[in-house]
Amino acid sequence: MAPSYNYEVIVIGAGPAGSLAAAEAARAGKRVLIIEKDTEVGIPEHCGGLVSTSGLKNVIDDYRIIKKKIDKGTLIVKDRFFDFSFEKSNLVVIDRQLLDKKLAGLAIKEGSDMVLGSYAFYKKENNVNLVYIKGKKLSAKYVINAGGNAYYPKKEGKILATQFMFALKNRNYDGIAVYINKELIPKMFGWYIPYEEGLAKVGAPGSPEIALLVAKKILNNLNLNGEPIKIMSSYLINGGPVFKYNTNDYVLVGDAGGQTKPTTGGGIIFGGIGGKIAGKLAAKDALDKYNEEYYKQGPGRDLINQVKIKDVYDALNDSIIYKIVEALHVKNASFSGDEFDFHSKFIRRILEDPLLALKIAEVIPSAVFSYLKSLFFS
Ligand SMILES: Cc1cc2nc3c(=O)[nH]c(=O)nc-3n(C[C@H](O)[C@H](O)[C@H](O)COP(=O)(O)OP(=O)(O)OC[C@H]3O[C@@H](n4cnc5c(N)ncnc54)[C@H](O)[C@@H]3O)c2cc1C
Repeated sequence: MAPSYNYEVIVIGAGPAGSLAAAEAARAGKRVLIIEKDTEVGIPEHCGGLVSTSGLKNVIDDYRIIKKKIDKGTLIVKDRFFDFSFEKSNLVVIDRQLLDKKLAGLAIKEGSDMVLGSYAFYKKENNVNLVYIKGKKLSAKYVINAGGNAYYPKKEGKILATQFMFALKNRNYDGIAVYINKELIPKMFGWYIPYEEGLAKVGAPGSPEIALLVAKKILNNLNLNGEPIKIMSSYLINGGPVFKYNTNDYVLVGDAGGQTKPTTGGGIIFGGIGGKIAGKLAAKDALDKYNEEYYKQGPGRDLINQVKIKDVYDALNDSIIYKIVEALHVKNASFSGDEFDFHSKFIRRILEDPLLALKIAEVIPSAVFSYLKSLFFS
């Protein structure tokens, strides 16, 4: 006799990845429960909310969550400005709390149960998936762990970041800004993301002290004045997808599964796609195909290349980055189509452009150039 479970699918965490997983499994008629430790979905928020609309359509079709369209940006390297047009990049800033609430709403609409304010402990006993909440033991045929960055199993590949909501005085800047300064920020970069009139999210990898220093430098460079009115620190995942921890009845999705862009830590889109694939496969009793599906049909292959691109970026110094940015700026080469999500498509396009490739070959060490080319053309 087949064992009876409390639920066919239990999902840990009601972020975008978890809610989409639950929605897919529930839509297929499965008994699904999402467990969320916080008392309100979407809060506390730890996100810049910057996504592309081409990516967003994989996650939600309700564009009322969009707060702002981003048409331009500034890259600041060595305190010099490079302005780029992002008109073809489909970039938007979303209301992240609203996104999470809408996706949780979708999961419930499709028939999933949800409990809030309950920390889930997962354990496998005698080959059965068990999830403990508030002293209650629940069994599930499948468990989808979408509990976020705390569950990412690789020691490397997490980077502490701090983000402030700044209230701006006098004037706003409507573009995004990226601030590169390897002395202050050895990995990744600082960022400025406009939120709504008079408010911007400004942050950087590092402790609150470092991030505040960086944030003030960014505002200075943009000729803005402001004070932080909110602060949050959390981990960005930039180590790439993890496949070996997944089994035929338990998978890690979203940040927990490393489904973020290693170049930026952005994970709303690729985590959302990961959640959807997991929910669909669990509903078809085919969770054992998860790695294959995420790698082949999903963005897994691109993310693995992005880890290598991130490693190259980490190894370059400001002077070289400056020269690369200068070369890109001359040709106004910025993201187009879905390249904001698939960064390796962007790099590939640059390397395919004979003039740009020549310029970049001139400024980066030849071994690094050959390595980059080998990622795409071998
Ligand atoms: C500073 C910062 C800025 C960012 N900016 C962007 C950006 O601009 N664009 C972008 O795409 N991404 C951005 N990200 C990344 C993005 O926030 C994550 O990739 C995304 O939230 C991952 O979604 P998720 O569903 O996997 O996890 P989460 O959104 O983290 O959701 C996990 C959920 O699980 C719950 N949970 C955890 N453990 C348990 C448990 N044991 N029991 C029950 N519930 C549990 C949590 O409370 C949470 O609600 C940023 C991240 C940071 C830190």
